[in-house]
Amino acid sequence: MSFLSDAEIVISELENFYQDSLQTKKPTLNQVKLAEIIDRLDLANFVFHGGLHGEKLNDFVKQYLDVCTRLHHPAYIGHQVAVPHYAGALASLINGFTNNSAAIYEMGPGASAIEFYLMNWMLEKVGWNPSPYPSQGKLTAYQNGEPYGGGVLTNGGSLANLTALLAARQQVAPDIWKKGLTNDLALLASEGSHYSVTRAAGILGIGQDNVYHLAQDEQGMIVPEKLSTSYQKAIGAGKKVIALVANACNTAVGTYDPLQRISAFCRRYDIWLHVDGAHGASALLSDKYKECLKGIEEADSLTWDAHKLMRTPTLCAALLFKDHRHLDNLFEQEASYLFHERNQPGFDFGHRTIECTKSAMALKLFMVIAALGEKGLADYIDRQYELTMQAYYYINEQPDFICPVRPQSNILCFRTSGSDKQQLFIRDQLHMRTSYYITTTRFRGRRYLRLTIMNPHTRLQEIISLVRNIRDIYKNITVTL
Ligand SMILES: *Cc1c(COP(=O)(O)O)cnc(C)c1O
Repeated sequence: MSFLSDAEIVISELENFYQDSLQTKKPTLNQVKLAEIIDRLDLANFVFHGGLHGEKLNDFVKQYLDVCTRLHHPAYIGHQVAVPHYAGALASLINGFTNNSAAIYEMGPGASAIEFYLMNWMLEKVGWNPSPYPSQGKLTAYQNGEPYGGGVLTNGGSLANLTALLAARQQVAPDIWKKGLTNDLALLASEGSHYSVTRAAGILGIGQDNVYHLAQDEQGMIVPEKLSTSYQKAIGAGKKVIALVANACNTAVGTYDPLQRISAFCRRYDIWLHVDGAHGASALLSDKYKECLKGIEEADSLTWDAHKLMRTPTLCAALLFKDHRHLDNLFEQEASYLFHERNQPGFDFGHRTIECTKSAMALKLFMVIAALGEKGLADYIDRQYELTMQAYYYINEQPDFICPVRPQSNILCFRTSGSDKQQLFIRDQLHMRTSYYITTTRFRGRRYLRLTIMNPHTRLQEIISLVRNIRDIYKNITVTL
């Protein structure tokens, strides 16, 4: 028993898992009852006796992988979670072994340096000024009189959104940090915002009732002409608006809010613009699709997940600011044992995040980009977006199917004729009877089936056969329901 021999067992089982998924030898989902999994994996025995190595490890990993959801399966068109490139998985292994942290430089110089580099790489994709290298552990306030950007990697888009809105709140109501809450704050957010945005309003003491929803059009996009109605409503109620949250793109149907017009509105009224690009900011890498985010450079902050469209294992999300000072002054309170002034060769990220111990996420993203090249990653995004458009043309021309929205990303919604309940029934049946894994969503008051084409192995052929499968199920519904 040794690291090397056990690692060989794990890697070899992962290779089998990967090949079985790609070759569709096993279904995407294997929903076994919880109690049965606990039993099959012999958890109690291992907890008591230990000894999980060698042959026993091999059996265990086999059994474990058997009840894993297979994201590499071409019929995985479910959630927005990345189908990871193996290079990112190898980075996860390196992280697990070295356990270096990116909170303070001395606990992970490699991780911190890569994070610094990648934050600048992402800032430049947005059109914001990258940060000069720190000198003696500190950043200078300005670079040639111009503010420059800053970023940090954090555990997911939800946490990034919360952190961005905290920064926005600090601008409008700086006293709250020390003195506690007032009850006059408001947030403007699209009706189609991710639930983490209203949740952040709850956590930050804005109150979910003080989220003023911005009207969406039939494509799920914010209507710029109606922005001032929501704003005036908030002001009329005596509220101070801390920020406006726009989507790039929204979660339900994957359409991009018109950032140029929204940012013009925000500048006029001096409102912090946060762009939730958790899913769709990766289009910034594509020459063809970066158009979708036109105007992004006028925003104040951006959430951009790498564990969605950048083929990086969970979790790895970037929070970027146009002006790094908002990020560097975010938490006034000091943890002096960590953040004392010191002469050091690097830079500490710890003061930019809610987390204390901070994992070395940058390595995962970096190893994926470095394996594919940024052009390779851009090609992947182009491919997924184009395939989704083809899927839309195919599905929308079927007489018994309808798509509510022409897709702008790799998210596609549709429904068959019939009730909302029937859409849910179709999904359940697909999971029970076929290899497909898809999701559903509510959009403008109705239930839709929803595809997120994350998988580089999914082809139009899978979509065509999905339609055939749904039709088979649907035929049975009219008989049985
Ligand atoms: C997925 C998503 C989130 C949440 O991000 P997590 O990384 O899952 O926490 C937030 N906003 C949008 C628009 C998303 O698509």
